[in-house]
Amino acid sequence: MTDIAIKSIEVDEILNLIEKRDPGQEEFKQAVKEVMESVVPFIKNHKKYENSGLLQRLIEPERAVIFRVPWLDDQGSTRVNRGFRVQFNSALGPYKGGLRFHPSVNLSVVKFLAFEQIFKNSLTGLPLGGGKGGSDFNPRGKSDGEIMRFCQSFMNELYRFISSDKDVPAGDIGVGEREIGYLFGQYKRLTSEFEGAITGKGIAYGGSKMRTQATGYGLLYFVDEVMKSRSESVEGKSIVISGSGNVAQYACEKAVQLGGKVVCMSDSDGYIYDESGIDEEKLEFIKELKNVQRGRIKEYAEKYNVPFSEGTPWEIPCDIALPCATQNEIDQNSAEAIVDNGVICLAEGANMPCTDGALEILQNSNVLYAPGKATNAGGVAVSGLEMSQNSKGISLEAEEVDRKLREIMKTIHDKCTEYGETDNGTDYLKGANIAAFIKVADAMLAQGAV
Ligand code: NDP
Repeated sequence: MTDIAIKSIEVDEILNLIEKRDPGQEEFKQAVKEVMESVVPFIKNHKKYENSGLLQRLIEPERAVIFRVPWLDDQGSTRVNRGFRVQFNSALGPYKGGLRFHPSVNLSVVKFLAFEQIFKNSLTGLPLGGGKGGSDFNPRGKSDGEIMRFCQSFMNELYRFISSDKDVPAGDIGVGEREIGYLFGQYKRLTSEFEGAITGKGIAYGGSKMRTQATGYGLLYFVDEVMKSRSESVEGKSIVISGSGNVAQYACEKAVQLGGKVVCMSDSDGYIYDESGIDEEKLEFIKELKNVQRGRIKEYAEKYNVPFSEGTPWEIPCDIALPCATQNEIDQNSAEAIVDNGVICLAEGANMPCTDGALEILQNSNVLYAPGKATNAGGVAVSGLEMSQNSKGISLEAEEVDRKLREIMKTIHDKCTEYGETDNGTDYLKGANIAAFIKVADAMLAQGAV
């Protein structure tokens, strides 16, 4: 077993330590590298953060639970999946972060997501620590009954570790309002408590208005600020969105409201290209297709007689690129195409959608690159508002939540410009990382070596 100690504060030293202690956790290592490349140079000029084992503590989760999730399929056979909850950092508040149900989920993926969440939550300005969880369960093709039995079994273990003051999960890939309902129902049954231990709930039982829209809308509010900083706007711009789930749908909705033309959406089978733009009516078709019928984006191509292609959509020329599907969906080739096409702004709806190599290309180009921990923080921000509404027993109107969301996204943008100033304008990645780090680090130092 390797001691969690680093000899000197260098990015490579930190990554080597991770490789020694947790070999093969590539996604986690990638997320740490992305943060440390901004934070390490900052620490060298701000010595108070060099000591107290701060960085060593920051890269080690406070707690990580792995558990068995047995469930009965419709044929009566027992299936077994693996469940995870990583409670990474509680310096700022109870652990907060979603649950992902997808076959690619493993400890490395959950750790990367939880690590990102610490900084994202810090940026919101709300009292939220960072955590994340999920399972390698694949919801695709499962019946409602199977989904319910899986969620109930998952909660039979998870309930021991969560509560409104301890750890508050929400949705993520594969976990939408249906799954949250089943998870919350089981939590209530196990604890006999009707409390806000989960966010993303239906409005009828304690959910916040606008939570469904929050991540996608927040992304566009951020993009709007980025465009304004270049004396530009979203209006009239062509936009490529990947994914067609929760984040993608509401990013599309707000983009259309702001006068943008969304020409593409996708899923893991491929993408549609609609030159005339996805309008409100076509978006309603996508919502029904994806959220109710659980269909595939290809069916849009058949209905509206537009091309469908396999692969990723990043070669399509556009002004604004919004990856809203999953991690590492933009590789170096895609990043080169994005730069060559003269994209003005790439803002991440998904968590870590750019590979390390892609990021380097984008950061050395004229593309305004805005990282997910800043741009997709709207979801957790409204989850934070859901928590405070639950604890006070109140329900805010949609307009009020939307106004607060917009304000929070503007404040995050302002923090990025404050801490990300360079000779060539704003480096949003640096700004987001440093602004988020300072708040978490100060809280950790104040609380002693815990
Ligand atoms: P959903 O499950 O609602 O939608 C996910 C979408 O991404 C689907 O269209 C899915 O297609 C596609 N997708 C998933 N995996 C892949 C893959 N390997 N290749 C190509 N496409 C893929 O999830 P969300 O919209 O909630 O989440 C999307 C991203 O946004 C994630 O990175 C998530 O972490 C991030 N995020 C979500 C927040 C939220 O509030 N929901 C908050 C902040 C970030 P298919 O149906 O074929 O799998």
